[in-house]
Amino acid sequence: MDNNPQLAHIYENLQKLKLNKTFQHLEILLQDASKSELSYTDFLEKLLNEEVSVKYEKQILMNTSIAKFPYVKTLEAFDFSFQPSLEVKKLRELATCTFVERAENVVFLGPPGTGKTHLSVALGLKAIQRGYRTLFTSAAALIVALNKAYAENRLEEKLKTYCVPKVLIIDEIGYVPVDPHGAHLLFQLISRRYERGSIILTSNRGFGQWGDIFGDPIIATAILDRLLHHSIVFNIKGESYRLKEKQRAGLLKKSDD
Ligand code: ADP
Ligand code: MG
Repeated sequence: MDNNPQLAHIYENLQKLKLNKTFQHLEILLQDASKSELSYTDFLEKLLNEEVSVKYEKQILMNTSIAKFPYVKTLEAFDFSFQPSLEVKKLRELATCTFVERAENVVFLGPPGTGKTHLSVALGLKAIQRGYRTLFTSAAALIVALNKAYAENRLEEKLKTYCVPKVLIIDEIGYVPVDPHGAHLLFQLISRRYERGSIILTSNRGFGQWGDIFGDPIIATAILDRLLHHSIVFNIKGESYRLKEKQRAGLLKKSDD
């Protein structure tokens, strides 16, 4: 390279353009191209394809970290045979993310350990792969954040933060009761996202019990009205995967279920 000013100049430009993959492998790329007698267009296509795929992978990694998932699990890693009540076809259709384009919501209901969070994260990952901004939050953390922002006169700003992502995952509605003011703020958020951005929501409580969660059947009905108008609901009826794993590890006997 030292005695080839043209090559040195190419390296300099690759660095300026941050085409790191090409920067690292330029000499091999050039040798391969000349050995296999690639045309100019084939060479350029190959080079750009590699750069684009590196950038895409990086973007996905970054957006996955921005999404704040509690763990990263894919749809491919989900054992559907363990959860026969789940409509696999419906889920695979969701994986194409047309629900995000249509700003529809997805709700997973079911007892603990049945895969609600796993499936929400998996759909969130699919959305990220399609270029949609995604954010994960537990319902409890969301309500604390909204209440805090309200107290600090920053509610508007906070609501905007939760409305920017095309997909907002609200996990575990129902594990902790929601105070009336928190319920009202959650209603405001859900109303704002209504027909504008998708919500993926999980709950261990059936819709009939939502009045108890929010301590107010009227606000619960108003929330459900917006949430369910354009939505796909999964009612998982199976057993806990966590318990199954414990049983397999010999920590629990089958009768302990
Ligand atoms: P919850 O319904 O309480 O949100 P999770 O989705 O967090 O349950 O599932 C609990 C654990 O079990 C997670 O580690 C998840 O990846 C795993 N899991 C649950 N169901 C399945 C399944 N059918 N196939 C593979 N892993 C599963
Ligand atoms: Mg969960």
